[in-house]
Amino acid sequence: MSSPNESGHQGLIYKVAVPSPLRRLFDYLPPAADIPIKPGTRVQIQFGRRKIVGYVVEQTNQSELNTKRLKPIHAVLDSEPLYSPKFFNLLQWCAQYYHHPLGEVLSTASPGKLRTARSVYQQETYFHLKADTQLSDSEQLSRAPKQKELFTYLCNNGAVNRTEILDKGFTSALLKSLVDKQLIESEEREAARAEQFTPLEKTNSKSLDLNPEQQIALNTIKESGNDYNCFLIDGVTGSGKTEVYMQAMQDHLSAGRQCLVLVPEIGLTPQTVSRFRSRFSCPIASMHSGMSDNERLDAWIQARDGAAGIVIGTRSAIFTPLPNLGIIIIDEEHDGSFKQQDGFRYSARDVAVKRGREENVPVILGSATPSLESLQNANLKKFQYLSLSKRAGDASESAMTVIDTSQEILDTGFSEQLLFKIEQHLNARNQVLVFINRRGFAPILNCAQCGWLAECENCVAQMTVHARPPSMRCHHCGTSQHLPSVCPDCNGDALSTVGVGTQKLEKFLNRRFASIPVIRIDRDSTRNKHNLAAMLDQIHTGEPCILLGTQMLAKGHHFPFITLVAIVDADSGLFSPDFRGQEFMAQTVVQVSGRAGRAERSGEVVIQSRHSTHKTLTQLGQESYSVLAKILMEERKIAAMPPFYQLALIKAEGPQLKTTLEFLKRINTFSNDLIQHSNSSVLAIGPVPTPMEKKAGRFRSHLLFKAKTKSSMQRFLAQLVYQIDQLKPVKGLRWSLDVDPLDMI
Ligand code: ADP
Ligand code: ZN
Ligand code: ZN
Repeated sequence: MSSPNESGHQGLIYKVAVPSPLRRLFDYLPPAADIPIKPGTRVQIQFGRRKIVGYVVEQTNQSELNTKRLKPIHAVLDSEPLYSPKFFNLLQWCAQYYHHPLGEVLSTASPGKLRTARSVYQQETYFHLKADTQLSDSEQLSRAPKQKELFTYLCNNGAVNRTEILDKGFTSALLKSLVDKQLIESEEREAARAEQFTPLEKTNSKSLDLNPEQQIALNTIKESGNDYNCFLIDGVTGSGKTEVYMQAMQDHLSAGRQCLVLVPEIGLTPQTVSRFRSRFSCPIASMHSGMSDNERLDAWIQARDGAAGIVIGTRSAIFTPLPNLGIIIIDEEHDGSFKQQDGFRYSARDVAVKRGREENVPVILGSATPSLESLQNANLKKFQYLSLSKRAGDASESAMTVIDTSQEILDTGFSEQLLFKIEQHLNARNQVLVFINRRGFAPILNCAQCGWLAECENCVAQMTVHARPPSMRCHHCGTSQHLPSVCPDCNGDALSTVGVGTQKLEKFLNRRFASIPVIRIDRDSTRNKHNLAAMLDQIHTGEPCILLGTQMLAKGHHFPFITLVAIVDADSGLFSPDFRGQEFMAQTVVQVSGRAGRAERSGEVVIQSRHSTHKTLTQLGQESYSVLAKILMEERKIAAMPPFYQLALIKAEGPQLKTTLEFLKRINTFSNDLIQHSNSSVLAIGPVPTPMEKKAGRFRSHLLFKAKTKSSMQRFLAQLVYQIDQLKPVKGLRWSLDVDPLDMI
């Protein structure tokens, strides 16, 4: 800090965070009406040529700038800080840990509507008598009985808002007359706040009698009290994790404490919410990406006022301020959708654990396939490990078989053996689920004559052929093109599709099992929400059908009538360039399999692979996810990868591959200096082009850092980012830092 000098300023100065890529705060003078502004309050400020919304972070009485160059805050937008000091600290921690500009963190964390200069609560117009008027003034209104009536009403009721006055049968014209006569005046005020929810006395529906494992889990959670503790419930699909969450929430709700429940992007279905609603009568606010900005703000206000007892939402709901927070629950904690992949790249799961600690409330993470990170935290006793190894109720576990397809000629992706099994299950009047992780008709279009391959012009990726409407589309950048009728290179007519997607399987299954409905569920078929609801309704009738779909089927849904789950092709997952590929693949297989045999019917899982002896498959078939996870954990240890090592990834993208690599090489040079000078254990790997080196027309490279501990990584990154910020920007080039990256492609 420099001492105030001639060019410095003494007197009150506010340090303001603004949404900008600059990792620093900006100084502003107090506004004209000089009332103290608390940290966490939104203000409107002149920033360059724009008026924007920023957050007061602290006050000081020193500025390194000349006062004459400082501008006053234009307007104070909140009558009280948007966030409590504790919560504001959490957001500041996020900025520090993810090395992301605080202003952008705050802007990402708050509802879209509050990024504009509006106040949190709607303003309403109130009318009341002018200061020097009294009831006797009504005399002058004797010839206007309606006006007199309104005047008397306001005399008796003090300030009343416009809506209420109009509801009483008075008109706007009457109000205007009294204002014109200088008898009454209007004033803008914030609408009244919602009341806090009433502590629950009883539940709507009776809670189930827990089985012994569920009981142990619940007791452990309850006995730990209301302070911070993190629990990892490792429970197979259908083991009754949700029942344990609900019974753990019950005590908090009856004490008037709020519960925050996070679920994966695709897991937040109306069914999920209605399950909580049928148990608990308190107001429930749900928050997800499909909501309008207004709906989101309403839910946020309900939560922040303490009016919602339960907040259930996807990733960004972790940033909902809750004045009486009692417990945080993250369902399917392993799910990739908890990690934001662009901008402020946070992990909602990791922030949840930090939040639990800061606000001193318990956190429950649950999954049938916990991430290796969380399993390691359990091994280290940072999390308390709770296991639910059996399905709740009467459902039994499914048997798994792997069909080796290396020697087979497949018919549209299916082996004879698998088709036979499907037929058997349908004949027994059961339902079948066919899983393929690829939407569209076919992933490849090529020419048998000259070898031409349909590739995206903007990405290093093949175009996927779609049948409806006939087109080729890039799943990475969204580009769409007409299907060529002849080969664009040799003009020959030997074009054909290779590989299978959901649409091709749908066509095939429809022909093969003509009397059985095939219901395809993927991103294309469910763009319209009503379609999905209608499809789910049809499935829940229990009539025989084939349910065909992608990842969307792997989560959240319960399909009690399915007895066969077929995973058409496991191989793309087995040989992924991502070091987490095996883990992801195992999680998908287990999650998809978990859809089978949920009711009293027992289920069967069949996986097709050309590598049936691959250890990931054999382990999953013979043992369980936990055993496989232990093996993968050993491999990560040997490879010095997470959860044993910390990762951070610097990504650069620009119009040429060369410039991105050169930029990262420069960073690498001074990161090497940093490492040597501080004798740090950090290791730099790269820079290299990313596995998909061109995406949406931009070239991409990355530089990976590895460290043994979080603290050594953090110290290193703080210095590194500071130095990168000093570099002169390169035209058209953008860089970003991903701490604990999930996506390395
Ligand atoms: P998970 O969240 O682990 O997938 P759920 O909580 O959804 O499991 O439970 C699966 C099914 O088992 C649900 O239909 C649920 O009502 C039922 N269930 C859960 N716990 C019990 C129990 N203790 N007794 C009987 N049925 C239960
Ligand atoms: Zn050709
Ligand atoms: Zn593309």
